[in-house]
Amino acid sequence: MSETVPGFAWFDGRVVPWGEAKIHVYSPAVKYGAGVFEGLRGYWNEAEGEMYVFRLAAHLDRMLYGLKVMRFDCSPDRAWLAEAVLETVRANGFREGVHIRLTALLDGIGEMAATGPVVFACTATVRPPARALTEGISAGVVSWRRPEDSAIPMRVKANANYHNGRLATQEAKVEGYGAAILLNDRGKVAEGPGMCLFIVRNGVAVTPAVTSGILESITRDTVIRLLREEMGVSVEERELDRSELYAAEEAFFCGTAWEVTPITTIDRLAVGAGVPGPLTKRLQALYFAIARGEVALHPEWRTPVYGARAARAAE
Ligand code: PMP
Repeated sequence: MSETVPGFAWFDGRVVPWGEAKIHVYSPAVKYGAGVFEGLRGYWNEAEGEMYVFRLAAHLDRMLYGLKVMRFDCSPDRAWLAEAVLETVRANGFREGVHIRLTALLDGIGEMAATGPVVFACTATVRPPARALTEGISAGVVSWRRPEDSAIPMRVKANANYHNGRLATQEAKVEGYGAAILLNDRGKVAEGPGMCLFIVRNGVAVTPAVTSGILESITRDTVIRLLREEMGVSVEERELDRSELYAAEEAFFCGTAWEVTPITTIDRLAVGAGVPGPLTKRLQALYFAIARGEVALHPEWRTPVYGARAARAAE
């Protein structure tokens, strides 16, 4: 994924030139990866001339939960965090789809048990649609496993947790796969390194339960609701065996960054016909239509970036 460096970032409460969003090498953020973050997306609606941040409230909820679990000594105002996200996009004047990263970092010179000071930062970068959205992607089960919750809480988006995903992704690339699938400590299917996984078997969508060592993905929640409520598809959240992957007629990854990405092969075995499946394609189209605001469904999931300012200015 190639990214162009934008003009501005948001750091410690204000918009700054991109290069000034920095933290010291001696901070716990650098020494221990002591950070909690969220990845969000802004979807550009050309007809309306508007950018919509998708499921902002859910991302803020998960961030506040992560800060609590990691015992970060701060209680940021939700409205302030929301504004940081919107301001980051506005400052750069983006008029195309962006990936947004909101991060809380431990600054200062503290050691292992440090809980502050906490500094917040936000960036937004242009993210053109990935080719895999239409072509699908090859996936392979890698040897690295998701750690169990009693070792490190993987349902928190803590920076240090992502070494697991880095190792898995590197192994997948070495093996010639487009993406990794990780098993959990019990040897059951967990997820990808930055995305959740669904299979479709006999017309039923199946995805590992939230107690499978996965991140409690917001896209997973979105997808489950769209499948059940809008598409009339049954969804099972349960333990998933590796061998069930090979019985799937369709499979896909989902996540903020991965959106709804069809999986065409797993461990070099074709998923169904080895091309993006029809249900996956319908789901993907619905997901994009909702995220971009091209249909009226779920307006509460879309926060306008530019209109909000225009509306406020008009007050
Ligand atoms: N799993 C992991 C490990 C992730 O990092 C992500 C990305 N946040 C996901 C799944 C998907 O989560 P979401 O849909 O909330 O982006």
